[in-house]
Amino acid sequence: MGNKRAKLLVIGSINMDLVMNVEKAPEAGETILGYEYSYIPGGKGANQAVAAARLGADVTFCGRVGDDANGDILLQNLMANNVDTSFIKKDPGSQTGLAAIQVEANGQNRIIVFSGANYRITKEDVDKALEKSFDAIIMQLEILLDIVYYAFEKAKAKGIPVVLDSGPAVNIDLSRMEGLYIISPNESEASLLTGICVDSQENAVKAAKVLADSTKARYVVVKLGEKGALLYENGNYELLSAFKVKAVDSTAAGDSFTAALTIKMLEQDDIKNAIKYANAVGALCVSRKGAQPSLPTAKEVAEFLAEKNEDVNG
Ligand code: ADP
Repeated sequence: MGNKRAKLLVIGSINMDLVMNVEKAPEAGETILGYEYSYIPGGKGANQAVAAARLGADVTFCGRVGDDANGDILLQNLMANNVDTSFIKKDPGSQTGLAAIQVEANGQNRIIVFSGANYRITKEDVDKALEKSFDAIIMQLEILLDIVYYAFEKAKAKGIPVVLDSGPAVNIDLSRMEGLYIISPNESEASLLTGICVDSQENAVKAAKVLADSTKARYVVVKLGEKGALLYENGNYELLSAFKVKAVDSTAAGDSFTAALTIKMLEQDDIKNAIKYANAVGALCVSRKGAQPSLPTAKEVAEFLAEKNEDVNG
């Protein structure tokens, strides 16, 4: 296996995450001292691109950053992770996306996202990227929905499979995504999209069915955190359990899961193996701090799976 390198296009967001660690977030009018802050490359699109590249895929990114210092740093970071940045535009009229994240000592967080340049991706940007050929496209919902619908239609016309990571929790018109290859929400996204509270396996199956019926997706894969992931395919379902790890920081777990799932499907076309592999990647990601710094390489995943006596090489 692994002789075919998946050619992947990620259309999505690039953010700088300003992470501020505080004892307790300030009340209105209050000033507090934090312990520590850091600038960490993030954005769901960029996280997925870096995750896929570290796992061995040939990844191209379509997106925008502002013409500013954060934009430069984030472009450099993508290049350093072997992501093709030739379809990322430096947009002089906007600022690079920023997520201001307050993390309290008890682990609770509060996040403000400034979309900035991410909301300025145009249909022409998508057209240009799609002049190249790809085995699959991954999108998320941190860019304008009009762009998501447009890129989906265009990919469909070209016969390119599209994987939708429906995060963050945003309501989309599922009827406009008919013919997805995979839709992969987490619990809260699945709840929002279907109106079914995904608080049990039974309800996860119900929500997955609604998603399958409305998008006609070939596979629905609901990410269930420490429980693993639920596969729904053709009216059948199966829970694929998570690996047991000590969870330190769940940032980017879902992003890395979707990237891993997509690559493994392109390599092997075996959905259960692909979910097992994605569960391993998600588990490694939650066992380390940060968004992109926590994304594992193919070698690390292989070692982890060997330790757990799991073979996902089909
Ligand atoms: P999101 O990050 O979008 O909220 P989840 O929390 O469901 O998504 O995590 C995505 C995947 O990461 C899960 O489906 C699972 O494979 C893995 N994962 C998440 N949390 C844990 C955990 N505590 N232990 C092991 N694996 C985990």
